Amino acid sequence: MTELNPTHSWHPYPWHLSQWQDLGHLLEHQKLPHAIMLAGPKDIGKGQLARALAYRILCESPVDGLACGRCRGCELNKAGTHPDLASLSPEEGGRAIKVDQVREVTQFLSKTAQQGGYKLVVIDPAEAMNGNAANALLKSLEEPSGNTLLILVCHNPSAVLPTIRSRCQIRLLPLPGKESLIAWLSPLLPPQSPKAGDLLIQAGGAPLAALALLDGDQIEKREKRLQDWIKLTLGQLSAIEIAAEWQDEECLSVLEWYLSWLLSISRWKVGASDTLVSKAPNEWQATLQFIAPNLLHRYIEKVLLNKRQLQSGANPNKQLLLEELLLDWSALMRLSRNANLATGQA
Ligand SMILES: [Zn+2]
Repeated sequence: MTELNPTHSWHPYPWHLSQWQDLGHLLEHQKLPHAIMLAGPKDIGKGQLARALAYRILCESPVDGLACGRCRGCELNKAGTHPDLASLSPEEGGRAIKVDQVREVTQFLSKTAQQGGYKLVVIDPAEAMNGNAANALLKSLEEPSGNTLLILVCHNPSAVLPTIRSRCQIRLLPLPGKESLIAWLSPLLPPQSPKAGDLLIQAGGAPLAALALLDGDQIEKREKRLQDWIKLTLGQLSAIEIAAEWQDEECLSVLEWYLSWLLSISRWKVGASDTLVSKAPNEWQATLQFIAPNLLHRYIEKVLLNKRQLQSGANPNKQLLLEELLLDWSALMRLSRNANLATGQA
């Protein structure tokens, strides 16, 4: 069990305002459930909403429905040492929340609140709990004690045990609207940065991922990866050469980037114009025209499966995993091209 990261997230993001007001209303009328699942795409600020709610509940004198940032409870939260707030995330270097971590938290929940109010646990992300960990949590959900609240932040609810899901009040947080995100993101960008709209497209519409693209050489790295992949598609570079290059990077973030492109190709093929592909080189677009949709969908399923396995703590040989995916991509392109030729000749 780790203390909650002391980032001072007193405010939720503006696009979560109506959820925030609704949660505040439940709190004021003492109608909060014992477990809430904040479910929605990654990097839209669900964790911040969870923390803002936890801080608000533990604040002794909230101002305008927000934690005041000055009282004893808020000072403890600033220091990340509030005795009635615990957080559950994968330990450093790992991707899974382990059963021992959950046991610590269930013990924490079974004790009386030290400050006399709520006891809170933020689990982020909930799908990182492996089977044993999730089962260990079940008891706390089945027999909640007193003023306890579990906030489960979740990017992929289907990856959470149904028995856990069914005991949570699920709040769906969709991808925020593009216009409001552009208005939020634009003033945060340095003068030389790509435009907010372009960053959002690259980040699959997720505002925090768009902002993170400005860190270090993320944009250059993604551009290089795209060029490699285009060369593979056009038969100018081999899957093995590319996998050797890509394996130096964090595998999960490579797969997330890859998936955002595959999904973009899938949308582009059904006529969506506002996609990554519509801004990609024409020669590549021309080749992508041939892809058979059923093969593309099967391929996306496979990449998704690999991503989920990595998220649930699998530790495969990165180079082999990438090689296999890229070889499959080459095969998919070859099959689609041949099928297209056969149709053309018929
Ligand atoms: Zn306060």
